[in-house]
Amino acid sequence: MQSSMLYDETLPRVRSRLRQLRGPVRSNDRMAPIWQLIHAIISSRTLDAVSWAALERLMICWAEPEGIMAARPEEVEAVIFDVEHAEPKSRWLVAALRMLHNAHGDLTLGFLSDLPTEAAFRKLRNLTGVGPKAAATTLNFSSLKRRIMVVDTHVCRTANRLGFAFHKDLGKAHTEFSRHIDPAWDGDDLYELHWLLKRHGQEVCVDGAPACGRCPLADLCPSARMVQ
Ligand code: SF4
Repeated sequence: MQSSMLYDETLPRVRSRLRQLRGPVRSNDRMAPIWQLIHAIISSRTLDAVSWAALERLMICWAEPEGIMAARPEEVEAVIFDVEHAEPKSRWLVAALRMLHNAHGDLTLGFLSDLPTEAAFRKLRNLTGVGPKAAATTLNFSSLKRRIMVVDTHVCRTANRLGFAFHKDLGKAHTEFSRHIDPAWDGDDLYELHWLLKRHGQEVCVDGAPACGRCPLADLCPSARMVQ
């Protein structure tokens, strides 16, 4: 309990230091939730540049998500060929879109607007191929701007080392990290926090041997000495 309180005080300091270092991160260019979901399904374990290019090709081939839903998975795979695990992702994507259309009669994801964030998160998790990161990005990164933290592998690793989470499993880490979030922070703040921590995980708190010696968070980090 004590450590939980300590970390509750620490996260705002982490955020403020990273913000000072990197500058604020805001986006006024949010995608429609359905396209964000499609990107989320095809993007796991794939470089951002590759997955965004694959999404662009999907949008060129099928201007509307209904076109992807009606396509054969092999046709989708041919378009997203260079993302990791293109074959199962193509099947999952078509299956998820069909599930959504069968349940709601369209692919607007309009039903999410009527649901509290946690319930919307659970609904998305029920779709084929949608894990905790994919569900959270759909809700937070899209025009929905929901107040939910996106925990990817970089954020997860950094959060574990900083003591905000204790599992490598993204779902568990998401739940643990969420307990430390200031109730006053909104969806834009959590969007920013994701990108600040992600960049920190990619450039400083890297997998393997983190650069604790040049880390601006070292005095706040319980793992600093262990991994130096
Ligand atoms: S001190 Fe080291 S382990 Fe802690 S956040 Fe910084 S780089 Fe990561």
